[in-house]
Amino acid sequence: MATIAYLDNNATTIMPTDVVREMIAWTNQGNPSASYASAKKCAAMIERFRAFLASAVGCTLAQYAVVFTSGATESNSMILHGIIEQVRRRGAPFHVVVSAIEHKSVLRCVQDALDGIPTMSVSYVRATVSGHIRPEDVAAAIKPTTVLVACMHANNETGAINNIAEISRVVKARGRDIFMFSDTVQSFGKIPLRLCDFGIDGASISFHKLHGPPGVGAALIRRAYLEGFPALLHGTQSAGLRGGTENVPGIGAAFAATRTVLAKRAETAEHERALKEHLIARLGALAPVTSIDAYMGAREKLELQIVLIANGANVADSTQYLPGTLMLSVAKHIGSSACNSLIKDKLEAAGVIVSVGSACNTKSKEHSHVLQSMGIPTLLMDGAIRVSMCGYTTREEIDRFIDGFIREANRQYQITKSGREIAKK
Ligand code: PLP
Repeated sequence: MATIAYLDNNATTIMPTDVVREMIAWTNQGNPSASYASAKKCAAMIERFRAFLASAVGCTLAQYAVVFTSGATESNSMILHGIIEQVRRRGAPFHVVVSAIEHKSVLRCVQDALDGIPTMSVSYVRATVSGHIRPEDVAAAIKPTTVLVACMHANNETGAINNIAEISRVVKARGRDIFMFSDTVQSFGKIPLRLCDFGIDGASISFHKLHGPPGVGAALIRRAYLEGFPALLHGTQSAGLRGGTENVPGIGAAFAATRTVLAKRAETAEHERALKEHLIARLGALAPVTSIDAYMGAREKLELQIVLIANGANVADSTQYLPGTLMLSVAKHIGSSACNSLIKDKLEAAGVIVSVGSACNTKSKEHSHVLQSMGIPTLLMDGAIRVSMCGYTTREEIDRFIDGFIREANRQYQITKSGREIAKK
C-alpha cells in the first residue's frame, strides 16, 4: 500500500520528528511560575517565543500583548468577547461588522454575543464570487456606532487572501477607534503578515496549521485596547489576561515549528505555487477546466467540466490566493450534481486525503457558508473539493490526487449518462 497523500493541510499539519522531540524536551520541566532553575528556563522560553512572534508579525511586545491559548478558536473568542464586553459595559448601543466568510469560531462567537446583548447590532459583509471581501463593501457597512470589524486575512476553504491593509485603512478612515480584528490562522507563516503596517489591532494564530501541536494558539492584542479588557480566565499568568499554567511542552514545540516554517516561508510558498500550477495544467490536459468567473459568464455549459473556485487570471497569483490552497469542483450538467463526499471517499480509499468545504463542516450536510456567501451555484457546491498543501507535499502526491479525482468525476458522469440513456429507451 502506497503511503498516504495528505492534502488537507489547512485542517491540520503533520508534526515532524524534530518538533515532537522538542515537545518531549519541554516535558517535566516544571511550572513556569515557580522559582527553580528548570521552571525559570520554561518561563524564559515562553517570553522568548512571545518576542519572536511579535517581531515575526512586524511589531514589538511594547505595542502588542501576546497571549498563548489553546488554539485559534480560543484566541478568536477571547479577542471578540473581550472587545465586545468592554464596549457593552459603556451601556450605549453599538455595532459590529463581520465578514460572512469567517471561521465558525468567529461567526458563532458574534452570534452568541448578539443573542445576549440587546444594545448590540451586526452587519455581515458578503464575499465576491472570487472569494474576496471588498474594502468598499466593508466601508459601506460601517455606521457611526461601529466599534469592531472582523475580517480574516486568508480564507481556510478557498485560500482567497483579503487585502487586509486596505480594509483596515478604510475602517480607520471611518473611525480611528474601531477595533480591527483579523483571524490570521491561514496566513501566518504562509504569506507576509505585518500587524502594524496592516493596521490590525487583534490577530489569532493556531500552531497546528504550522507543523506544531494541536491545542496551542496565540492571541495578539494591541496594548492600546487593553485597559478594562476582561480576563478570559482569572489568574496571574499572561499578565492576568488568561490565567492557568502555560502548556510548556506545547508552546516549546510550537516555537520550534514556527521557527522552521518562517525560515522556509518563501521557499515553501514557491514550492506550493509550482505544485498548484502543475495541478491546474495536468487537470487541463485531462478534462475541460475553467475558472469560476468564466463558468459564471458562459451561456453554454459543458456536460462535464472542472471549475476552479478562484478567478481565472489570478488562481496562481500568490497575492490573491494562498499558494498551497485550491478549491475546485466537478460541474456535471447532465441531470444531477456531482457528489463531493463520494469523490472524497474514493480518494481516501486510494490513499489520498482531501476535504469537502470546511474541515469542521464535514459531518454536516449543509453547504459551506463560505461558498454560499460567494454566491456559488448549488451544483458547484455539491461537487466542491479542497486541496491544501504544505512544504512537504510532493508532485507524486498531487498526481495521485489528479488521477483519483478525474477517475471519480468521469465515473459519476458515466453513471448519470448511462442512466439517462436507459431512461430514454
Ligand atoms: N480560524 C481559521 C481560519 C481556521 O482555519 C481554524 C481551524 O480550522 C480556526 C480558526 C480554529 O483553529 P483551532 O483549531 O486552533 O481552534
